[in-house]
Amino acid sequence: MSDGKGKGVIALKKLGVEVQKGDHYSCQKTQQSVTKYNSNGQTSSYQSEEKAAVVTKIGKSSTTTVKVFQRRVEETIHHKSLPPVKDKITHFSHRHDLHRYEVQKRDKINCNICEAEILDKAWSCESCKFFIHKSCESIPQKIKHKSHLRDTLILRSSTNYACGEFICDACCDSDKGFHYHCSPCKFDIHVACAGLPSAVNHPMHKNPLILCYDFPVRSSETVKCKACDMKINKKGWAYYNDDSKFIAHIYCAVNKKKKDSILAIQKRLQSLQMK
Ligand SMILES: [Zn+2]
Ligand SMILES: [Zn+2]
Ligand SMILES: [Zn+2]
Ligand SMILES: [Zn+2]
Ligand SMILES: [Zn+2]
Repeated sequence: MSDGKGKGVIALKKLGVEVQKGDHYSCQKTQQSVTKYNSNGQTSSYQSEEKAAVVTKIGKSSTTTVKVFQRRVEETIHHKSLPPVKDKITHFSHRHDLHRYEVQKRDKINCNICEAEILDKAWSCESCKFFIHKSCESIPQKIKHKSHLRDTLILRSSTNYACGEFICDACCDSDKGFHYHCSPCKFDIHVACAGLPSAVNHPMHKNPLILCYDFPVRSSETVKCKACDMKINKKGWAYYNDDSKFIAHIYCAVNKKKKDSILAIQKRLQSLQMK
């Protein structure tokens, strides 16, 4: 590639293409034919006695390719440059560097942060057997959650409760790992629970089910999940439809196996982020 001040620009001027002052152009190739690619993947080639050119303008985060044929700009393509590939990162979740790791299906590795299975890209500290989804790298450390609006929730890697475990205020399971925490209220929720959608569609129910942070059924009787027929803990959250009274455990209502679910969780957590 020659420099923008060099031959490329002169060639372009000959072709009648306006080169804007201050832009950086470099001429990738000056050739006798231009190949045009359309969105259907079809290509067509132009052969000519006249000159044709492919010009590339490289910006900081994008590249613009201009195809010139017979003094006309035939096509302009903008594409974002790929960010440089990182092999390791330092991350607040772990005291050692984390290295790029490609998880294979048979590995059966779960993410230390969100606890969901990792199916492809991960960051890892192999000696500590610490793995996180690549997408969990940018997990917010502080969130404002609808279930606990009065305080900011802080991401913690472990609990300092004497028993060594916290009980999730959403799903009622006890656990040791990453969770969002409010210290004055002793309020704790799993990362995955914090990222639950506020409404879901369930195959057994026509209308959407709404996530309730306060148990929606007031009676003192045992309430059973309509999906699995097991008791639901009234201290936790549930998905519920007020018209039909259909109620389900949070993890009976959401499709955990869905491949995009971890990205969906991440997206919802990002929207709760506090600066
Ligand atoms: Zn994760
Ligand atoms: Zn380590
Ligand atoms: Zn939970
Ligand atoms: Zn609180
Ligand atoms: Zn259930």
